Amino acid sequence: MGERAAEIKNQIKAQALAVGFHKVGIASPEVGFAVAHLRRWLRLGYHADMLWMANPKRQDLHQVLPGIQSVICLALNYYTPHAHAPDRPRISRYGWGRDYHRVLGKRLKQLCAWLNQNFPDSANRYYVDTGPIPEKVLAQQAGLGWIGKNGNVISREYGSWVFLGEILTTLPLPPDAPHPDRCGTCTRCLAACPTQAIVAPYVVDANRCLAYHTIENRAVTLPPAIAQNLERWVAGCDICQEVCPWNQRFAQPTEIPDFQPYPGHLQATFADLCNLSIEEWQQRFPGSALRRIKPEALRRNAIAAFRSFRDR
Ligand code: SF4
Ligand code: SF4
Repeated sequence: MGERAAEIKNQIKAQALAVGFHKVGIASPEVGFAVAHLRRWLRLGYHADMLWMANPKRQDLHQVLPGIQSVICLALNYYTPHAHAPDRPRISRYGWGRDYHRVLGKRLKQLCAWLNQNFPDSANRYYVDTGPIPEKVLAQQAGLGWIGKNGNVISREYGSWVFLGEILTTLPLPPDAPHPDRCGTCTRCLAACPTQAIVAPYVVDANRCLAYHTIENRAVTLPPAIAQNLERWVAGCDICQEVCPWNQRFAQPTEIPDFQPYPGHLQATFADLCNLSIEEWQQRFPGSALRRIKPEALRRNAIAAFRSFRDR
């Protein structure tokens, strides 16, 4: 790749920052080196019933976009300096404000439109958690951050409080240098997980993870080992991120108003959520990523979390 490709890459990066992304990097679409780790994780059943993780396209991006030559990786900081009250149900930070699919999607759409306009011979397709894209592997390859032992992408500037998005493109762009691992000898996240879901460094077993069960598990009741260890989490779980020294030192408040918490999220009580009606769910969570959790599942989580909190 020559000077022209490097010039285009610089233009794309400048445009990505102009539409409001906090970080941007370029990765090669060749993710074959990460396939062994993914296949082992799947073989061990650590994806629980998230069957989309086994989609073979996730292991070969040429099946997603024929002619793909590069991936533009993007990140948006969503941290706000609010804290959970000590006696209330806890909702993960990712769900405090407006749905990140919408907030990132709007910017990705803008950037894609700019690419289509300026490089009309290229094909460009964007994703925000919406397709078989190994987004964390790509983010590390693009130099945005590294995949920590808790399985999250951690950036030096914002910690792991970042949402990721990608644009697959047929434009040939010089890839950035992958980000080195900065976890070192730290094991805080492994020690802090209440259900020992981080079964080894960099390996999270969804079957044991509160985030998986509170968001994805559709069963009428939660498994006892989860229900008894909810530690007030009713939607997601941030424990392994909150204890991470990179988050404690480097998190910085986002300037994006959409990520400010909805009042009803931080101030929700157990009584509110244990008795949540469909109408209240509609009113309380408009345009929220938490709508993925249906009202009956949120009630289930809140009741289990309240019982384990009361009986602790
Ligand atoms: S999200 Fe919570 S339950 Fe899941 S691995 Fe992290 S600390 Fe453990
Ligand atoms: S807590 Fe420590 S080991 Fe875990 S992700 Fe953060 S730096 Fe890495």
